[in-house]
Amino acid sequence: MVGLSRRGFLKASGATALLLNTSHARANEAADVIVLGAGLAGLHAALQLADAGASVIVLEAKERAGGRVQTLFDLPGIPEAGGTQLSSNYRRFVGLAERFEIPLMEDSPMQRDGAPELYVAMRGQSVLPDQWAGHPLNPFDGPLANLPPWALPFAAMGRDNPLPEIASWRDPDFAEWDKPVSEHLGWTSEQLRLGFGINPGYGASAYSQSTLMWFQIMKAIAAPGGRLLTVDGGNQRVPNAMAAALGDRVRYGRAARHIESDADGVVVRTMDGSTYRGRDCVITLPTSALRTVDIDPAPPRLQQRGIRSLPYNRVVRAYFVPERRYWEEDGLPPSIWSDSYAGRIFALRGGGGTEITMMQSFITGRAAELLDRMPQSDAMALIQAEIEHVRPAARGALRPVAYVSWGNDPYAGGAYACWAPGQISAFADAVSQPHGRLTFAGEHTAVRARGIEGALESAERAVREVSARN
Ligand SMILES: Cc1cc2nc3c(=O)[nH]c(=O)nc-3n(C[C@H](O)[C@H](O)[C@H](O)COP(=O)(O)OP(=O)(O)OC[C@H]3O[C@@H](n4cnc5c(N)ncnc54)[C@H](O)[C@@H]3O)c2cc1C
Repeated sequence: MVGLSRRGFLKASGATALLLNTSHARANEAADVIVLGAGLAGLHAALQLADAGASVIVLEAKERAGGRVQTLFDLPGIPEAGGTQLSSNYRRFVGLAERFEIPLMEDSPMQRDGAPELYVAMRGQSVLPDQWAGHPLNPFDGPLANLPPWALPFAAMGRDNPLPEIASWRDPDFAEWDKPVSEHLGWTSEQLRLGFGINPGYGASAYSQSTLMWFQIMKAIAAPGGRLLTVDGGNQRVPNAMAAALGDRVRYGRAARHIESDADGVVVRTMDGSTYRGRDCVITLPTSALRTVDIDPAPPRLQQRGIRSLPYNRVVRAYFVPERRYWEEDGLPPSIWSDSYAGRIFALRGGGGTEITMMQSFITGRAAELLDRMPQSDAMALIQAEIEHVRPAARGALRPVAYVSWGNDPYAGGAYACWAPGQISAFADAVSQPHGRLTFAGEHTAVRARGIEGALESAERAVREVSARN
């Protein structure tokens, strides 16, 4: 529990009741705190506030909880569509899984029984991991030549990290590193394309990613003792259990459209015309979704700039059931790292089993940008054609079953925040500053953790801020 005074909340609830009596005409429901978003940040904040005795209403635009954590429960092997890899260092997430008695399992997606799962398919050629060093398609000399393309960003950005500790990425003393990765590395354009342009984990190219963001990522990854974990039965089980604990305090299908606040409280109007009044409001929407919500009075200029311009990573995930074991026909590893519009094609073994239950195309960067401009059925057909082109043995063997675009999801706007050069020093602090009775949380406001754990970290900070105001 994060320094929240139950007495403080109960005392303040009385004040809210008075306030509500006078302005009741505009609100059709009221609570001490209105939380926007039932992703991990919103649910964690709401649970802590409720545990401390506050009344809460969580407004969620979609018909489900979890936000960018989404498990496709109906598909064979129950694959993830959103946040996938968990670390044993995610102590808040692990704690929530324990609280709700949801088991976690060890995960190791890149290899099976010590054998590589992934090979490179580039410019019409298939290159096995042991053929990559010295291959004509490999533009590196020296130690980097021994690394497969997917390991390059981590090896390159893991060196010469000036941050003494993870939170230092927000310290103005390190602002000189808030420059493009391309400038920091000084690689050739072919090297940059391979390391940061094809299947990028962040942004779309080395020119659009901040070196400082990478230093924070590397500090987070380098924390000792981190083992890869996954939730038995799907990651979304955890937010689902959190939402179930909150019961009917979570309202689905309620997309916030307008937020009005003054010194006494906040009124949120949703797309369906309902209004919700609270003494405080915790906003956990990614800035890519918050851009479409009116905030009155408007936040300070720098905060607005952050809300308007912080980029999010486009990700498309397409799922195919393999109807033949075509990887046994051509003898290549089942998963592919390709430079095609099919991106990375991962063989998934559901539930920690040994059988491949699904092939998943994970597409990012410029390829995802192009797919996001196409009708979904055309995009799915293109991905399948690309897989079959890269790997002829797969012809006729893949049955398309699901397609998820995070970039085209109006309530996500992308997978996660990807700080562009200059943005961290310009507005990383401003974007998460309280604005009157509005408190901002969500993955993009976290300082020490990233992704799933970052969302939870941000919720705890938000609850501390609300508590301090009351
Ligand atoms: C494809 C993908 C892969 C990822 N991989 C990883 C990974 O391996 N490891 C990791 O740690 N993280 C990963 N992440 C990131 C991680 O999932 C997110 O950082 C985290 O879930 C964000 O939680 P949040 O609560 O901050 O935001 P969200 O989960 O986005 O929650 C915000 C909620 O607000 C709702 N909302 C939006 N607009 C409105 C509105 N107007 N009114 C009301 N509600 C609204 C949304 O529907 C959503 O439920 C991945 C994400 C994606 C998409």
